[in-house]
Amino acid sequence: MLMDRITPLVIPVDTCNPAIVKDEALCSECGHCFSICEEEIGVGARYSFHNGEEYKCIGCGQCSAVCPEKAITGRPHYNIVKELVKDPEKIVVFSTSPSVRVGFADGFGKEPGTFAQDEMVGALRALGADYVLDVTFAADLTIMEEGSELLSRIITGNAPLPQFTSCCPAWVKYMENFHPDMTDHLSTAKSPIGMQGAVIKTYFAHKNKIDPEKIVSVAVTPCTAKKAEIARPELCDAGKLLGLENMRDNDYVITTKELVQWCKEEGIDIDHITPSKFDSILGEGTGAGMIFGNTGGVMEAALRTVYKVLEKKEAPDDFYELRPVRGLKNRKEAEVKIAGKTIRVCILYGTAEAERFMKEDMGRYHFVEVMTCPGGCISGAGQPDCGSVPVADTVREKRMKALYSADERAVYRNSMDNPEIGAVYQEFFKEPLSMLSEKLLHTTYQKK
Ligand code: SF4
Repeated sequence: MLMDRITPLVIPVDTCNPAIVKDEALCSECGHCFSICEEEIGVGARYSFHNGEEYKCIGCGQCSAVCPEKAITGRPHYNIVKELVKDPEKIVVFSTSPSVRVGFADGFGKEPGTFAQDEMVGALRALGADYVLDVTFAADLTIMEEGSELLSRIITGNAPLPQFTSCCPAWVKYMENFHPDMTDHLSTAKSPIGMQGAVIKTYFAHKNKIDPEKIVSVAVTPCTAKKAEIARPELCDAGKLLGLENMRDNDYVITTKELVQWCKEEGIDIDHITPSKFDSILGEGTGAGMIFGNTGGVMEAALRTVYKVLEKKEAPDDFYELRPVRGLKNRKEAEVKIAGKTIRVCILYGTAEAERFMKEDMGRYHFVEVMTCPGGCISGAGQPDCGSVPVADTVREKRMKALYSADERAVYRNSMDNPEIGAVYQEFFKEPLSMLSEKLLHTTYQKK
């Protein structure tokens, strides 16, 4: 189909694309963007460009991560947030994803993978944050909901197996665009950021006696697809619950690159930041939540909890370093025995690899993790490139190692042991998959 190319193809970026923007004047038509979209993302491979079809971008931004001219970039939000932090009527709440803390220092030329959590929080305070919260809290919440959903599928057969993870909005979009008949396989659990926003504007606002309409929820992420995700029409569940029609669960997404750029514009240098800690509540995550940034991390976190729920005892040590699901291979598999059941899992990154997987006999698996970006969110398109385009594997490995080390150092390493998770269920949701959990923490998918 593409053999008759005369010049390399470049991906078309619609001016309304919520995730990425393109400056055509900078494009040298090298074709790197189309190559990655075709070979690793599997979207470009669907287009011949001869019949004027609409290009269904999934927003992962990997085209921007390989663009040597920086013609394609994430759609910036930080310039709007920069103004909002100055508005005394607004309460600006930042929530940082696990991978940002191992990419932030890279943007200042530090050793790749430097763990700079306290510096990242300190920088956000210096920029004017009212609160700085941790998305690892919501990663733990995701495990509680997604793990319960998996158990329900296995035990009752109420939805098809394998269950696919739903943390990656580019993967969700891929399924909606190209496999709408298979979206029942996606977990209905929102992504961690989707959950965090809904909990900030309900439980967090109530506990802190804040008018939720004054809150501006800003997710700080390694990801461009999250910019499109927060604009999904259905992601305004806090507003629906509170009868506030125009309130979104999350308002803006800024990437690690944007955070670094904003710091530099304000003259904030990493060596002179006053380190700081997250606020409480929604500011405490476990090691399990931390490793969400790595390919295989969601699976490892989920299995730790599923083991403890089914066996009613702590998981053995190898669940805390589940080697078969770790590493940079784009497909990994594992089989674990829990409470007499054999649970078969598969971990994939690159939606092209997921496409190949879906052509096989999926029926033998129970749970499948899919992330779009190479190595997972640690090399999302919003992460600094450390001077090489695309980011080198050595950089990805260092970031992964930094998150695994943080997990090893963590006081709590199983999502269900997070005291803040215990409190939010006791005081608010009552239990996973409760009516309120379904309303605020789960979602639906478009079957186009
Ligand atoms: Fe975003 Fe992570 Fe998915 Fe990449 S893998 S698109 S960074 S959620």
